[in-house]
Amino acid sequence: MKIVIVGAGIGGLATALSLGAAGFDDVTVVERSRQLRPLGVGINLLPHAVRELTELGLADAISSIGTAPGRLSYFNRFGQPVWSEPRGLEAGYHWPQLSVHRGEFQLLLADEVRRRFGADAIRLGWRATGVEHGVATSDGVRERARFADAAGDELVLDADVVVGADGIHSALRAQAHPGEGAPPWNRLVLWRGTALAPTYLDGRTMIMAGDAEQKFVAYPLVAPGAHDGLTRVNFIAERRAPEGMAETADWNHAVDPAPIVELFADWTFDWLDVPAVIAAADEILEYPMVDREPLERWTVGRTTLLGDAAHALYPNGSNGASQAILDARSLAFHLATAADVDAALAAYEDDRRPVTTRLSGMTRQLGPERVMQLAYERAPQGFADVHDVIPETELREIADAYKVAAGFHPDLLNERSSLTPPVRA
Ligand SMILES: Cc1cc2nc3c(=O)[nH]c(=O)nc-3n(C[C@H](O)[C@H](O)[C@H](O)COP(=O)(O)OP(=O)(O)OC[C@H]3O[C@@H](n4cnc5c(N)ncnc54)[C@H](O)[C@@H]3O)c2cc1C
Repeated sequence: MKIVIVGAGIGGLATALSLGAAGFDDVTVVERSRQLRPLGVGINLLPHAVRELTELGLADAISSIGTAPGRLSYFNRFGQPVWSEPRGLEAGYHWPQLSVHRGEFQLLLADEVRRRFGADAIRLGWRATGVEHGVATSDGVRERARFADAAGDELVLDADVVVGADGIHSALRAQAHPGEGAPPWNRLVLWRGTALAPTYLDGRTMIMAGDAEQKFVAYPLVAPGAHDGLTRVNFIAERRAPEGMAETADWNHAVDPAPIVELFADWTFDWLDVPAVIAAADEILEYPMVDREPLERWTVGRTTLLGDAAHALYPNGSNGASQAILDARSLAFHLATAADVDAALAAYEDDRRPVTTRLSGMTRQLGPERVMQLAYERAPQGFADVHDVIPETELREIADAYKVAAGFHPDLLNERSSLTPPVRA
């Protein structure tokens, strides 16, 4: 079976590796960029994704480029504690949570794809322009994917299955669902960066502080002690956009830190100096908080969608990359085990579309970060003890409900069966 994957992001590369592990040998990944560069800042791989990467044999390699947070702690905008929970192995999972640099992780996956399928398995510099479904060829009825390069030359690839893993601005999604337009923006702006900052708390805690209007997230990207008294942290500062800020702005660009430092000037907690972290950033990139409306279907003909192309989510819950990895494993499992390709694509969609649709709704309601908003609504000026305003059971219910919906509650994840299919003949 020949499979063409459009997009060499985390979803596309994880799909290639999952297909390889499921016994498929004829896999090509086609990427628009002419060179894979380590773009982006930090991302979190939650235990459900680390389980899949472990089953792909990548645990040691990924651990070597990341660090495992031991706790996730939420605070209000005065730095007062709202909710704190262990993460990864400390929370009883069989797999850790890992914080990694997105670009380094993507390059690691790309190296692995080339090792598994050969140096030519990733074709760079070709932008997908569309797919024809059910084309009669000498090899039977196939999907025909078309690509263009910068010079205007065309590449045509016929395949049994085409996977659109081409991100939030997916060309394949646009073809299947014309008229959708740009991803909807909720008027929150995210500023992402990394900084070398004094080690905070125990050096292994991911923190979120604030509420639905303004928020700061930070997590270490290196193990404690890697730098003397300092830690390289990834951070996201978030704020509702000022009136008049245009939706059509060029979002993926570096911005001056000074106005962002000013927005967070009062956020100097006794355990973290937020404005100082922002001021120490190497570079700050500005993004809109955008997602995609859930779709009624992902598959047309034998072309399907995966990752952000299928279900881009708000980053609340840190689940984007993890959900793309779960998609990849599910798709490979069903292609290896279903009676035929059509049944496999239907089973993949049945498995993944309802889950990600539910998650999309939850992330629009802040996901697990609702604990911070509740604290703000019930005690906007702060509190002596959060349990005076929110009972612990209510906080725990919010945290647990999200984990169940996203597929990583420890009781469920540790027990569920593997997505590694029996090896194909
Ligand atoms: C440059 C970049 C930086 C990012 N930085 C962060 C970050 O710092 N933190 C974070 O949490 N998330 C970040 N993300 C998003 C995160 O990687 C995804 O949400 C998640 O990993 C799901 O991955 P995906 O493979 O579905 O999509 P993506 O990672 O977006 O990958 C899609 C891939 O498809 C390629 N592509 C797009 N259109 C076409 C086309 N027509 N033909 C061929 N190829 C195409 C893109 O170049 C890209 O390589 C970033 C994404 C990108 C592209």
